[in-house]
Amino acid sequence: MKTFNIVPNIPPELEPLKEISFNLWHVWNPDAITLFMRIDRKLWESCNHNPVLMLGRLSQEKLNELVHDEGFMLFLEKVYSDFKRYVDNKNFFQYSLGVNKDFKIAYFSAEFGINDSIPNYSGGLGVLAGDHLKSSSDLNVPLIGVGLMYQQGYFRQYLTPDGWQQETYPENDFHNMPMKLVKNGDGNPLTVSVKVGDRNVYVRVWKLEVGRVSVYMLDTNNQMNSDEDRKITDQLYGGDIEHRIKQEIILGIGGVRVLDALGIQPAVYHLNEGHSAFATFERVRILIEKHGLTFEEARLFVQHTTVFTTHTPVPAGNDVFPPELISKYFSVYISELGLSPEQFLSFGRVNPFDKQEGFCMTVLALKNSAFANGVSRLHGKVSRNMWKGLYPHIDVEEVPIKHITNGVHIPSWISLDLATLYSRYLGPQWAEDPDNEKIWERALDIPDEELWRTHERRRERLVAFVRRRLVKCLKRKGARQSEIMKAKQVLDPEALTIGFARRFAAYKRAYLIFKDPDRLDKILNNPEKPVQIIIAGKAHPKDMEGKEIIKNIVQIAREERFRKKIVFIEDYDINVARYLVQGVDLWLNNPRRPLEASGTSGMKASANAGLNLSVLDGWWDEAYNGENGWAIGSGEEYDDLEYQDEVESRAIYDLLEKEIIPLFYTRGDDKLPHEWIERMKINLKTICGFFNTHRMVEDYMEKFYLKGAEHFFSLGQNGFEGLKNLLAWKKKIDTNWHNVRILESEFLGERESLIRTPLGCRVKVDLAGLTPEDIVVEAYFGKLDANGKLSEFQIEKLENVKQIDSTVYEFSGEITVEKTGRFGLRFRIRPVNLNLEDSLSLTYIKWDD
Ligand SMILES: *Cc1c(COP(=O)(O)O)cnc(C)c1O
Repeated sequence: MKTFNIVPNIPPELEPLKEISFNLWHVWNPDAITLFMRIDRKLWESCNHNPVLMLGRLSQEKLNELVHDEGFMLFLEKVYSDFKRYVDNKNFFQYSLGVNKDFKIAYFSAEFGINDSIPNYSGGLGVLAGDHLKSSSDLNVPLIGVGLMYQQGYFRQYLTPDGWQQETYPENDFHNMPMKLVKNGDGNPLTVSVKVGDRNVYVRVWKLEVGRVSVYMLDTNNQMNSDEDRKITDQLYGGDIEHRIKQEIILGIGGVRVLDALGIQPAVYHLNEGHSAFATFERVRILIEKHGLTFEEARLFVQHTTVFTTHTPVPAGNDVFPPELISKYFSVYISELGLSPEQFLSFGRVNPFDKQEGFCMTVLALKNSAFANGVSRLHGKVSRNMWKGLYPHIDVEEVPIKHITNGVHIPSWISLDLATLYSRYLGPQWAEDPDNEKIWERALDIPDEELWRTHERRRERLVAFVRRRLVKCLKRKGARQSEIMKAKQVLDPEALTIGFARRFAAYKRAYLIFKDPDRLDKILNNPEKPVQIIIAGKAHPKDMEGKEIIKNIVQIAREERFRKKIVFIEDYDINVARYLVQGVDLWLNNPRRPLEASGTSGMKASANAGLNLSVLDGWWDEAYNGENGWAIGSGEEYDDLEYQDEVESRAIYDLLEKEIIPLFYTRGDDKLPHEWIERMKINLKTICGFFNTHRMVEDYMEKFYLKGAEHFFSLGQNGFEGLKNLLAWKKKIDTNWHNVRILESEFLGERESLIRTPLGCRVKVDLAGLTPEDIVVEAYFGKLDANGKLSEFQIEKLENVKQIDSTVYEFSGEITVEKTGRFGLRFRIRPVNLNLEDSLSLTYIKWDD
């Protein structure tokens, strides 16, 4: 069959419109959105905010009409010049690199949620990745996205009459989406091949422009591949574990090859979750092949330039492949790396010697990266605990998994109404500089009346949206006219509105607020103080427990007493999320602590001046300050889960009855809930400046990207001279380390010493064949807890004072303790090298006992 594409015949005057359509900058630019709405508001909605699709559907008459609409053309000119100014501005973010060079960061993710026009995400992980791209673009961080483009994306949800979730998988029409197939110099599609099992799979690439950031999405659905291989990129998180390993081979290995084929040489690779961790091996392989490095050299280089972000607080959430599957798909690859199968498997095992242990992608990612983090303060702690088995020589607090708390890209999530209000009262910088806490302090100056009216307008919009969705949904199902009439009357645009929407994973406990329907009835149906709940979310197709939860909620919502009060919106996506977070008064989140790594939807509500009612888990554990929302419980964890549900659902009812509802309905003479509005402002002031992706991306830049880039240059230049020196040094350490010992250690303080007095320490070490420059001797001290363990440790470096004989040296120094109580002190020795990332020296540590 001959294939060809038909493209719309856009008049030359509208070329700028086309250009704006193909750059996802329009997603977070209010004027660009207004421009598209102006063309045809209904069509804009029905095209899922996809301007490329919309342009293709406009009649020639309509296109010509636009050209002759002077007002439209002037507005287009303005938006286009804003757009050009944005994409051509190359120097917004000021970063300082030790070596003054350009560098790039490749950001790998299995899902990207940029907008509802590109259904290539399932939930928070993808939306976070999308927001990471947008903030990188705004900040001019030199980032490049790499992902998979799924033919069917994630499923669409609809419910049977009794509330059971059904899935449909509409095909994504790539040629009508805001992206372009990447071509070679000769005009043919760029193709990269990846061996999957015993076949070569050919990958094509779609390029998306997200402001100044490019994203490359890999796609195996083309005629060069067998039917089976065409399906590798069919669905996000679909299929069995074998399907998953194939997808991860394409993402990790294929992704690195695509960058290579494009001539892009990133300095730093960022793995957003473990799915893409095979990329580390592919980089090793290429370094061996192209630069003649040894496996050890190549891996050391890759480690120093890889950042890994883990998102999963439970072991079961991590991809683990049975060893047989690794053998099946990697036998040739393993020999190309010059490894034995057991050596290869050991990189994915906590215990390298346990032949039964599966191959875990998170373990691989941790072992092959020098920079790792969880996504909230609490999740950092949970992750260090989860993976401490990988670092047997150190205390859990020192496990090198840090945290960088997630954020949201605020301009993408707030309503146009609020954006206008913020521009007026916070100043126009709020959109460019949302992580400037000073700007958000001005929220306190917004007049109550204006903030409240704007918010009420959004609540009304939300109610109208829900009704429209319900009607549409009922019509599709062939419902009776009387039912459709009823749907038009659900909810009350003035009632206190609670939102709950997210993936229906069991730990998120969507059922919690429905646990006692009679008590809920009293709360919702108080005629003076009405309350209503809007709920949405998808369960993974294989998650029967999640589907059961949806069904139960839907059945409760069907009861006559709740019919107008509780609405389940089908097919949760970014668009539904946007309406919800922009219109609700209260955003409910009640995960089972500590299973929510971060959560971001509450931040979106918060940026829209909605208040959070949440368990102290993930980000809320960090954000809640006693007056910017409400906490369910105070951070407890339970063994008896039934009991926990009982206690925490009661806590929700209590808070609603005693605090939240009264606050909302306490109105002044002007009918405004001044105290509630005060909380809205405190919420804006204390949350938005920090919980946004500008702050997050800058954190990644400062803590990881810049360091990785420095390693890239210092280890890589002059034919990898620095790397070779580092490895030679590391070999010297490896040969001598088993002979290195702490011979004696002395604490020169009293058994009872005064606070803040320097206390002396002296340590004698045998360095075997090493020199004092190769190591550090450290005093490691902290409070002794009831179990005799050190907590809140501090580290003080001791200085080399004298050489005692050929290999023995004395080190000494002082420690100062800033608190009172019982303390413990230990000494240790570890190798150091300017070029060795600290996290990689922790596996060597020797203690004095
Ligand atoms: C923000 C968002 C999420 C994340 O929700 P959390 O429960 O806060 O993790 C999931 N899905 C969509 C569509 C979102 O927009």
